[in-house]
Amino acid sequence: TNNILQVEHLKIYFKTFEGISKAVDDISFVLKEKETLGLVGESGCGKTVTNLAIMKLLNAKSTILSGKILYNGWNILQAEEVNIRKLRGKEIGMIFQEPMASFDPLFTIGEQMSEVCKTHLKLSKQESRIQGIEMMKRVGIPEPEKRYDEYPHEMSGGMLQRAMIALNLLTNPKILIADEPTTALDVTVQAQVLNLMKSIQKEFGNSIIFITHDLGVISEMADRVHVMYAGKIVEKGSTMEIFENPKHPYTIGLMKSKIKKEYKAKSLPYIRGTVPNPQQFPVGCRFHPRCEYAMEICRESEPQETVVNEGHLVSCWLFGNRGDELENNKS
Ligand code: SF4
Repeated sequence: TNNILQVEHLKIYFKTFEGISKAVDDISFVLKEKETLGLVGESGCGKTVTNLAIMKLLNAKSTILSGKILYNGWNILQAEEVNIRKLRGKEIGMIFQEPMASFDPLFTIGEQMSEVCKTHLKLSKQESRIQGIEMMKRVGIPEPEKRYDEYPHEMSGGMLQRAMIALNLLTNPKILIADEPTTALDVTVQAQVLNLMKSIQKEFGNSIIFITHDLGVISEMADRVHVMYAGKIVEKGSTMEIFENPKHPYTIGLMKSKIKKEYKAKSLPYIRGTVPNPQQFPVGCRFHPRCEYAMEICRESEPQETVVNEGHLVSCWLFGNRGDELENNKS
C-alpha cells in the first residue's frame, strides 16, 4: 500500500516565557492508505500538537516548526494558507474530543453542513440539505430531517459526535484525524461511535490517525501503533506486535497500567514519577529518570531507532548493538 502522509523529522518548538518547549522533537512516521494509525501516550506527549501541525493549525508566531509533512508528496508546512484551507475539511477531516466545542452554537447542524457543502463542493442550499440528511442517515442519526434543523445544544453528546462524523464525511476526506473522539462519551455510546468509525472506514476507505491515551480503544481500532513519550516516538509496530511483544520499558509500563485499569492521564501506577517538563527534558533518553533499566549510556546519549522485528522499531539502548558500539568507540 502507498503512503498517503509522510512526516519527516518533524520538530515543533514553542517559545514560552520559561524558555523553549520542545513539544515534538524529531519524529518521523507514515500513514498508509486505508489504515488506522494509533498514536498513544499520556497527555503532553506531543500527539495532539503533531496533528494540529498536520492541519497547520498552530499559532505561527510562537511556534518554530521544522521537518516535513508530505501529503501526497506535497509539503504542508511550506504551503500557502489559501491552499491549506482547501486541504482542511476537504482532504483532511478532524473529529475532536468535545463535539460541542467543534460546532458553532449559533448555527443549526444543517447550516454548518451546508457551509461545508458550499465551500468545498459548490452545492446549493437545497442540494446540501439532501446530502446532509443522507449523511446523517448513514451515521445512524434517527429522524435526520428533523435533526438537520436542530442546534448543537439540542443533541446529546453521542448524537453530536455522530453529526460531527457526518459533517466530516461530506467531502469524503482521504484522512480523518480523530483526537480522543470518544473520551467524553459514556461507555455504551463510546462503543457505538467506535463501531461507526470502523464501518465508515470500510465504506469510505479513508485513512485514520487515531489519537488516544486509552490502550483498550487503540487495540480495537488501530492497524499499527506508535507510542509517544515526551515529544518522541519511542516504539512503532503493528497493533498485534505492540500488544503481544512490547519492548520499550515505557510501553510495557503502559500495558501493565492498562490491565490495572485505574490510570488517569497524569499518573501511571506501574511507572514511577511523572512526565517531565517540556522545557527541561532529561538529557539522553527522556524516559531515564523513570526507567528501572536505566544504564549510564541512557543518561548520556539519546537512543536511536532500532529494528527488533519486521515493522517493529524501538528507541531504547536495551535493543540493538548500538550500545556496544558506543562503548567501544569510547575506549
Ligand atoms: Fe530505559 Fe535506557 Fe531504554 Fe531509556 S534507553 S527506556 S532509560 S533502558
